[in-house]
Amino acid sequence: MSRLDPALQSVYDTVLQRNPGEVEFHQAVHEVLESLNPVASKHPEYIDKAVIERICEPERQIIFRVPWVDDTGQIRINRAFRVEFNSALGPYKGGMRFHPSVYLGVVKFLGFEQLFKNALTGMPIGGGKGGSDFDPKGRSEGEVMRFCQSLMTELSRHIGEYTDVPAGDIGVGEREIGYMFGQFKRITNRYESGVLTGKGMAYGGSRVRREATGYGTVFFTEHMLETLNTTLSGKRVVVSGSGNVALYAARKAEELGAVVVACSDSNGYVVQDDGLDVDELIQVKEVERLRVSDYAGRRTNAKYVEGGNVWEVPCDVALPCATQNELDAASARSLVGSGVVAVAEGANMPCTPDAVRTFQDAGILFGPGKAANAGGVATSALEMQQNASRDSWSFEYTEQRLAEIMHGVHERCASAAEEYGTPGNYVAGANISSFIQVADAMLALGVI
Ligand code: NDP
Repeated sequence: MSRLDPALQSVYDTVLQRNPGEVEFHQAVHEVLESLNPVASKHPEYIDKAVIERICEPERQIIFRVPWVDDTGQIRINRAFRVEFNSALGPYKGGMRFHPSVYLGVVKFLGFEQLFKNALTGMPIGGGKGGSDFDPKGRSEGEVMRFCQSLMTELSRHIGEYTDVPAGDIGVGEREIGYMFGQFKRITNRYESGVLTGKGMAYGGSRVRREATGYGTVFFTEHMLETLNTTLSGKRVVVSGSGNVALYAARKAEELGAVVVACSDSNGYVVQDDGLDVDELIQVKEVERLRVSDYAGRRTNAKYVEGGNVWEVPCDVALPCATQNELDAASARSLVGSGVVAVAEGANMPCTPDAVRTFQDAGILFGPGKAANAGGVATSALEMQQNASRDSWSFEYTEQRLAEIMHGVHERCASAAEEYGTPGNYVAGANISSFIQVADAMLALGVI
């Protein structure tokens, strides 16, 4: 870890003391504070008016019990969270994650990342995040529905189009959003489409929302590559994960002429030297709800490596799209050794701090998640716009808006990095640009 300015170190010490044991949150805060060293000296008002300290403390944290009955009649209890982090720029906005690893520290780290990511999009949305330790894997349709309904029975008290707008994340896709929206509508007797995003097309969803995070990550990667006067065409790409973000990152990379040679899940990875058939992969994963091993089982030219690390596969472009801290320094060194030229985080904080440093020290283009995966939330904001105007845009128009937004995100990161003396450092650029935007709004709103 690099040293912090004394005023920033004192903010960090307070964060450690107030949030014991929440290591992912500590990691996310430290990364942002490191980038703010040059900002703190240029803008003492952010320290004097406690903006940096305030930004690290969520505005509201909600923790609640979710009781539900499984198919055998047994009563189950899960815990759910909603951390409403910052609403200086707009209503809290950010997804819900259903995964056994979810606890307050994970939700806080995601909410903290989200507030900066949302600012980077240039759209009027604040930051929040939520989730539950519920594991949807192996649960029946009925169990998933009952869980979502029970969760929304409580969550509905806290959210709203102008208050807090949840969406999907790991374990929460269109199906779960549908059940949650149905319960919200029933309880409140309001057809408030803009209360959730990631909805299905049949009831107020937006075209391109499903594809948006993965597509946006690839657009961002293209912009990074442009700075080296090259493109994705002909490049070997490895994607980790095989969920929503990974599948559509793979599809857009393939569309732009790249060869996507590998992807993974938490059990192992599949590698196919002549390029994965992305349509088939989407069919297996999204339609049939099977695993990457099932994809490999259907192809003679694909190999499945049980328990393997996907970052062993050599590539030109790496897109980590699974989960936090999935790519460590050893994997980063192996990627650098195999000649990787660009890494863009489709997931939130998938690279450990040591891995990020390894890429940066080797001069590799590195796009942090809060910039590279901002296309998902940006398209959620486009979904809210369509809901507010009772409109539904075409795929082409929505994708064009997404592409423009990702261009803007890239430009904001690049110019802030330049202005603060770290040209080409997208981590610093993303943190500085988004921090200043939120901080200035907070200063204008007074001590609240
Ligand atoms: P999904 O649930 O659709 O997919 C998650 C994928 O990651 C699955 O293939 C899963 O494999 C794999 N995975 C999860 N945990 C682990 C683990 N511990 N080790 C290895 N693989 C793992 O989630 P999303 O695609 O929506 O989200 C992926 C990442 O992108 C997350 O970090 C999320 O926060 C981030 N993100 C998502 C956005 C969105 O719009 N969906 C927006 C911005 C960021 P398995 O099935 O085996 O669990």
